[in-house]
Amino acid sequence: MAAPKDYYKVLGVDEKAEAAAIKKAYHKLARQYHPDVGGKGSEDKFKEINEAYEVLSDPKRRAEYDSLRRGYATHQSRRHGTGFERVTHDWNPEDFGGFGSIFEDLFSGAGREAHRPEPARTIPEETVRITLEDVAQGRTVSLTVEDVKECVVCHGTDRTCPRCGGLGQVAEPRRFDVAIPAGVEDGTVLRVGEYARLKVEIAPHPRFLRQGDNLRGRVMVAVPVAAVGGEVPVRPLVGDPVMLKIPRHTNHGKLLRLKGLGLPHRGSSVKGDMLLEVALRFTEPFSAQDDALYDQLKNLHGEPGGEIHAPR
Ligand SMILES: [Zn+2]
Repeated sequence: MAAPKDYYKVLGVDEKAEAAAIKKAYHKLARQYHPDVGGKGSEDKFKEINEAYEVLSDPKRRAEYDSLRRGYATHQSRRHGTGFERVTHDWNPEDFGGFGSIFEDLFSGAGREAHRPEPARTIPEETVRITLEDVAQGRTVSLTVEDVKECVVCHGTDRTCPRCGGLGQVAEPRRFDVAIPAGVEDGTVLRVGEYARLKVEIAPHPRFLRQGDNLRGRVMVAVPVAAVGGEVPVRPLVGDPVMLKIPRHTNHGKLLRLKGLGLPHRGSSVKGDMLLEVALRFTEPFSAQDDALYDQLKNLHGEPGGEIHAPR
């Protein structure tokens, strides 16, 4: 897919150049490349300069051109509303079939005389970053994309068209409400409207690690509770705290399972589990009585530990 003609580059001006600077650059180049001065070899260049100036000197056409350029380079997704991140994408226009040639025609101008230009389609891709809680419950996000449509006034046939400035297309912002399904996977790309896409990114969670439909976490358990058993309140990803049963003689590192407290499986009512790895913790500060009791325990057991394991 060829890049669209860069009128700014043709005139050697910045994209943000003001009208006066564009005019000045044009006059300088037009003098330099005028066929009367530069000879026959400069004819194409002279044409190109005039074509660029024709668009960039007209504020309306320039705005349309800028908008279409942005659409073309939708690698850079724009921020629209809360929760959207500016992320760089690689997308392959070939995935969508045929857009490349439409853009080439549009920007090279080659198709203008040969046939009526077809409406150019941008393929906006936005990225939304959601939380693990959103994955558990699903979420609807509002998305505004620039929808490029054929100009209904002139259909690209009128270079002086007041609506499209002769470009044949107009870009209009369109709002979509996109339902992100519960159980969505990281990196999922959802379709929005006809051609827009929304990529879902899931932010890391401070308490849980996602493993498929399961949630992994570490739960702190006081040493005496782990020794004789008991219950500790734990806060699931969403909803009220539940009591986690700690069996008697629960050792450090033991994996405890809370069934059905994981994530929903996308498109089904089945839910994963919450898997909690026990981390033993002393109850601090140590009182004199604690010390006395632990002294007794130490004297009862001759096993000091000392095995070495590779870290996980
Ligand atoms: Zn028009």
